[in-house]
Amino acid sequence: MITRYEESDESVWIPVAQGLDGGPARAFLPSRGFQDAYRYGYKAETVTAPYFEALSEIQQAYIDGDSRIFLVNKGTKKERQSRACWRHGNKAGAPHLGPSLGWVAVAVSDLEKLSDHELETALRVANKKFATLSPPLAKPVLCRSPSELDQEVARIYGEGVREIPMGQGVPEKLESTTHVFVRDAQVVAFTLQKAQGKCECCQQPAPFVKASGLPFLEVHHVKRLASGGSDRVSNAVAVCPNCHRELHHGARAKDLADELYTLVQRLIRE
Ligand SMILES: [Zn+2]
Ligand SMILES: [Zn+2]
Repeated sequence: MITRYEESDESVWIPVAQGLDGGPARAFLPSRGFQDAYRYGYKAETVTAPYFEALSEIQQAYIDGDSRIFLVNKGTKKERQSRACWRHGNKAGAPHLGPSLGWVAVAVSDLEKLSDHELETALRVANKKFATLSPPLAKPVLCRSPSELDQEVARIYGEGVREIPMGQGVPEKLESTTHVFVRDAQVVAFTLQKAQGKCECCQQPAPFVKASGLPFLEVHHVKRLASGGSDRVSNAVAVCPNCHRELHHGARAKDLADELYTLVQRLIRE
């Protein structure tokens, strides 16, 4: 079931031991960093080896069925001492450990944040010898408008996305009233014809041809209709979808609009 850790693995199996005499469980975690000496490691071969080397030796011993390291708490004191064993922590306080509770697969990136208790809980919840600790899921941040969504995305992105989102199975639907301007098809057709299938902003050909046979360009009002701009050819350009988005949402939107007034002769500033 368990596999030996390889350097590019994203998850790793960690042995978890039952605490002695009912004490808290212990897990083989890098509690003092990956490079710390795992001094009381399996068969003393890991005396100065860093964490992953020590861990993969323990994993290999388990895979090979090397029972000596996993039965260290049975028998007389002398028998116990003569057995090869591995421990974690300082010599005085650390009990002998073995995967007596089981193994938990965890993300390598979480190793230094995990506690013995979390691994013990994962095994108890799974009620098996092998468990997988699922990464924590990010709760939904529900937004009721595109501008709120924009703001929240920028905030979360800025803070750094660390957790996998739980998402939503069936998103709630909102009814909305939108105001639509009554537009003149003549203005659109004339502007498209002037553009001759090329974006009037970046000069590149339309990205594809529509089912109607017309090149796919969108007609944009340089001064927005919503800001009181006119629906005349002196205020309209045919642009590709990329430029159109940039004209509405780009950091350079104002500069681009200024460039359009120079590039397209028929435009008049309003
Ligand atoms: Zn363009
Ligand atoms: Zn537009």
